[in-house]
Amino acid sequence: MKQKKNVSEINLDNKIILIRVDYNVPIKDNIIQNTYRIDQTIQTINYCLNNNVKKIILISHLGKPNGVFNEELSLYPVKDYLKKKYNFDIDLCGLFNIQTSNKKITLLENIRFYNNEVNYIDNSFLKKYLSGLGDIFVNEAFGCSHRKHTSIIGIDCKEKVSGFLLQKELNFLKYKIDNCDGPFVAIVGGSKVSDKIKLLNNLMPKIDHLIIGGGMAYTFLYGNDYLEIGDSLFDKEGYKLLDDIYNSANINNVEIHLPKDSVIADSFSNDSNYKICDGDIEDRWMGLDIGPQTVKEFSDVIKKCKTILWNGPMGVFEFDNFQSGSIGLAESIKEATLNGSTSIVGGGDTSSFIINFGYFDDITHVSTGGGSSLKLLEEGTLVGIEFLDDE
Ligand code: AMP
Repeated sequence: MKQKKNVSEINLDNKIILIRVDYNVPIKDNIIQNTYRIDQTIQTINYCLNNNVKKIILISHLGKPNGVFNEELSLYPVKDYLKKKYNFDIDLCGLFNIQTSNKKITLLENIRFYNNEVNYIDNSFLKKYLSGLGDIFVNEAFGCSHRKHTSIIGIDCKEKVSGFLLQKELNFLKYKIDNCDGPFVAIVGGSKVSDKIKLLNNLMPKIDHLIIGGGMAYTFLYGNDYLEIGDSLFDKEGYKLLDDIYNSANINNVEIHLPKDSVIADSFSNDSNYKICDGDIEDRWMGLDIGPQTVKEFSDVIKKCKTILWNGPMGVFEFDNFQSGSIGLAESIKEATLNGSTSIVGGGDTSSFIINFGYFDDITHVSTGGGSSLKLLEEGTLVGIEFLDDE
């Protein structure tokens, strides 16, 4: 993938700037529950304001309104937040009222209210209309840059560049990973092996250690030792891929680390009975977190690595009793980062875990993307990035 042009490299003077942002944030009773994605775009907006632009038009989606207006999915709370927290001179406008706005910044109402946003057609009215609204297109919406949507791959301004947030995501999830300082450990967790197979294939030539945790570890454990895994998650499709994964690890000299013990439970609930288990898991019990011995062994690997990539939690962190594994690893990553390692967290669940459990400031880069960060790690580029001008 060629390096893409950034907003800091072009002339913005007196131009109208269309910025595609990803303000798809959780909102309850008009209150935004997590403002991380919004706050991360402020650097680009302020940069444009400080460089004498004529106007900024912000474009975002929220939820899935399926091409029709839905008051509950209005971006009104986001406009309020931007106005109050950042003191922006800002309006919220429907697509066809945009010319009536005389504010410096206009936030377009949820772009998914309009047909042909999700359903991309090359010569749609929406595409032509959006393309005619401004002089420069800035993609700052990393979280949906893997989607072939009109506002991601269809706004054909004269110049199409990345914003600072998109650039930061690329710097870490692409360039840093392709040219990292070793040793490099990838920590992969979550539920299914088959969901992560492309990721593992792409990472194998780059990494030295692969730590497998979470629900997917039980498919590996079963395959490795024919261990009894009780009612733990088992991924039949993923099981068929294990030989390929081990072969690739052999060829690329990657050491695979699997859990030695688990926190097992007698039901999938926070009220279940639970205990530590370091061998066969009994019938009707299931592994819901890595155990203390595993936390220690995984931490020893993490602390000797210079680059750390984490995608997928070590256990069912949504339940209080099965958080210790993910917390234990977060603590080790924090220590390694303090000692100079680069730590990168990608994936919706893992990023939420890091933010909600107070580790955000301890990690070098926490991605704003879920599906997009996984796809970038798997494929090395995204459709929304390819759309931008080359350097
Ligand atoms: P993924 O979307 O594949 O990254 O999976 C994330 C989900 O995996 C989270 O919601 C976790 O609760 C879940 N998870 C992690 N460990 C386990 C486990 N041992 N058993 C079942 N689910 C798990």
